[in-house]
Amino acid sequence: MPRAYSRREFLNWIGAAGGSSAVYQASIGLGLIPAVTLAAPMASVTELGSLRRSVVVLGAGLSGLACAYELERAGYTCTVIEASHRIGGRNMTLRSGDIVDEMGHRQVCEFDDHPNLYFNAGPARIPAHHKILLHYCKTLDVPLEVFVNENRHAWVHDSNAFDGQPLRMRAYIADARGFMTELMAKAINQRDFDAPFTDQDAERFFQFLRAYGDLDEKGIYQGSSRAGYQSGGMLVPAVHKTPFDFRKILNHDFWRIKMHWAEGEDQASPMMQAVGGNDNIVRGFTKNLKSPVITNAPVQSIMLRDKAVDVIYNHQGINKRINADYCLNCIPKHLIPGIHNNFPADYLEAMASVKRGKLMKIGLQMSERFWEKQNIYGGISWTDQKIEQIWYPTHGIHDAKGVMLGAYIFNDGTNAEYARLTPVERLATAIEQGSKIHAGYGKYVETGVSVAWHRMNYMMGCTAQWSEEARQRWFERLQRPEGRHYLMGDQISFHAGWQEGALSSAHYVLDDVNQRVQAELKGNATNA
Ligand SMILES: Cc1cc2nc3c(=O)[nH]c(=O)nc-3n(C[C@H](O)[C@H](O)[C@H](O)COP(=O)(O)OP(=O)(O)OC[C@H]3O[C@@H](n4cnc5c(N)ncnc54)[C@H](O)[C@@H]3O)c2cc1C
Repeated sequence: MPRAYSRREFLNWIGAAGGSSAVYQASIGLGLIPAVTLAAPMASVTELGSLRRSVVVLGAGLSGLACAYELERAGYTCTVIEASHRIGGRNMTLRSGDIVDEMGHRQVCEFDDHPNLYFNAGPARIPAHHKILLHYCKTLDVPLEVFVNENRHAWVHDSNAFDGQPLRMRAYIADARGFMTELMAKAINQRDFDAPFTDQDAERFFQFLRAYGDLDEKGIYQGSSRAGYQSGGMLVPAVHKTPFDFRKILNHDFWRIKMHWAEGEDQASPMMQAVGGNDNIVRGFTKNLKSPVITNAPVQSIMLRDKAVDVIYNHQGINKRINADYCLNCIPKHLIPGIHNNFPADYLEAMASVKRGKLMKIGLQMSERFWEKQNIYGGISWTDQKIEQIWYPTHGIHDAKGVMLGAYIFNDGTNAEYARLTPVERLATAIEQGSKIHAGYGKYVETGVSVAWHRMNYMMGCTAQWSEEARQRWFERLQRPEGRHYLMGDQISFHAGWQEGALSSAHYVLDDVNQRVQAELKGNATNA
């Protein structure tokens, strides 16, 4: 008899084969994550009647806001408690005068006050298959525009290759493909390689290689317009750039991950961003909420009661108490054990068990959009230096000024090192390293801001980094409510680090609450 696999085993198996994205898509397919809206409509106000429930939402992250929005529409009484001075959690866009509440390095953003001079310090890109997020953008009237994630005109830089000179991405990719396919074209003429093919197969494969690598009719790579012209092309014939030496291409680290980055499911074109800054998604929720969102109100205590949850938060120096039927909580889970509580030990152990990543972004206001003179409109340049990436804004094309991303640091060690630097020192190193790609670009920098997410107050860590072992041991435990308390956010999803993960988790929690309330309604009707 073939063995029956549980849905969890099946998803783990897919995860091993295809990564978190495959699991996410499969989960939608299995109905474990609703594709767009809630799995079942929530009980309406009239149905709720005397069972009209109260909910306290902890944390005004995207998942918290989405829950408040849906619950309010369904007739629940809802209050959102947020520790920070601002709403949105990791969804943060910086503009003139905004505060960066980093522990030890509080900064005020000094960009000019102009609608295009903003910096998405948190989410920047929205993939086309993040359906729940796109659903809310549409419903909440948040206009979107295309975000350029990959730009073949941008630069790739490796200090140890090509004498440290940056190369155009298009040139690198076209030449790498050309040499690779030329080698394969030669190889298919050899008898050994020919063996599994018919003559017709071999001919078709040869033509495939020619098309893929832009080889000549003999299967030789002579350079390609895909790599860019060296000169001409308008009024005089184009001259192809001379191909790079293939050994040098191999010595350049671009091929390892960066060359394929924009092919990943979550990174593939076209991507989107909210017009005017991605925090307009947060604004979309708050504009449509009547329920109070109390900021500057750190939660002090969460106590589970028989059929309720007691929460104490501090607001303007005074401790205030809320007693609600349900508590939905997106506070970063590694911080929750530090809040007074009566959770069971295994729940707390699970919360503390998952490592949080570090992440830093640096935004630079430039006096001139010099990159546009180099034919660069949006996209990313890559380097092996500590700043890792430089991004060019997609919006505000041909404006006088622009805010570009001067560093996006994923490496934990570099993040720890940069967190120790003052904001001024961080900018200085970002400028020094950026100058290896854009010579002398420091002269355009007017002001800058750095956001070390693992040092931000009330965050103190970035994306939840689930090991396979922790996933097996703790994921279900944390997803399962404890009494009437639910943990949520991207931290309780297979898509940590993505708003879609946060919203999927919010919908999961809403569906569960809804089922419990519906069951109570049925029970009441039966007893009546
Ligand atoms: C640098 C960076 C880049 C990213 N890029 C993308 C991207 O391109 N696309 C994308 O879709 N996603 C991206 N993300 C991920 C996205 O931002 C998150 O997945 C999403 O915003 C998480 O929402 P959440 O609901 O889980 O809550 P969070 O945003 O984690 O919010 C938690 C909230 O709890 C609050 N809190 C903490 N302690 C307390 C307390 N004691 N009392 C009350 N409140 C408390 C916090 O202040 C915060 O507001 C990025 C994130 C970062 C940091």
